[in-house]
Amino acid sequence: MTDDEPSKNISGGDAGGGAAATFDPDTAGTHAEAVVDRLGELYWTKTYGGRDAFECLVRTILSQNTSDTASQPAHDALMERYSEARRDPDSDGDLVDALAGADQQELAETIQSAGLYNQKSERIIALAAEIREEFGGEAGFDAFVRDADPDAVRDRLLEMNGVGPKTADCVLLFAGGRGGVFPVDTHVHRIARRMGLAPADADHETVRESIERDVPAEKCGFGHTAMIQFGREYCKARKPVCLDDPEACPLADRCEQVGVYPDSGDVVDPADAY
Ligand code: SF4
Repeated sequence: MTDDEPSKNISGGDAGGGAAATFDPDTAGTHAEAVVDRLGELYWTKTYGGRDAFECLVRTILSQNTSDTASQPAHDALMERYSEARRDPDSDGDLVDALAGADQQELAETIQSAGLYNQKSERIIALAAEIREEFGGEAGFDAFVRDADPDAVRDRLLEMNGVGPKTADCVLLFAGGRGGVFPVDTHVHRIARRMGLAPADADHETVRESIERDVPAEKCGFGHTAMIQFGREYCKARKPVCLDDPEACPLADRCEQVGVYPDSGDVVDPADAY
């Protein structure tokens, strides 16, 4: 952590992987970059990379269709049970190996708190088997995610059962440390269109393309996590803070408020803005 780190550290501090970074709002070249720089004044700025790619994949699959509060205990229980091979210096096994050979019922019980545990356990075992077959294990998969052409990595991840664009982008960002990757979840999709960073009727993929074009590569990872946090705290889906108090939003001067009508109190999806 740095001395001037804001109190709200959304990235897990130094333990979250990656390194501190500083952005200067005065030098932003686009609207989207200026928004990310301003988020850097609210939250600690950080670049990402260095997490284990397969663990990252498992974590995002556990988090599908559920909250962090539900998926975190499932992740911890899974690691506790299946990462023993990693902790044993005499073992040449790894997490991929352990999960490729896991008993499905046992894995389902372990990850129960994440919901859809039968489907998720089947997916995880199948992915582990596929990765073992193609990359040999964790180290081979890490090297592929970190070193191969990013488009090739993304395409290969998208071919895997249960891996969608957001999961693929999270693996590229958090494990590969790839700059220029700005995963678009429901918060980013909403905020980018409200603020006018992307067309009001843009789908997830178009929002991603707009932001990745306008935000410098090294700021995308931070921008993604900070925008999600900003969506939870300020620019909420049904009740953005500006609805009652125009002064309440720290980014109001950068926002076009597409679909947000403080005068009438209405909030609609930007695509349906009137
Ligand atoms: S001004 Fe309102 S709509 Fe715009 S970013 Fe802030 S909370 Fe969201």
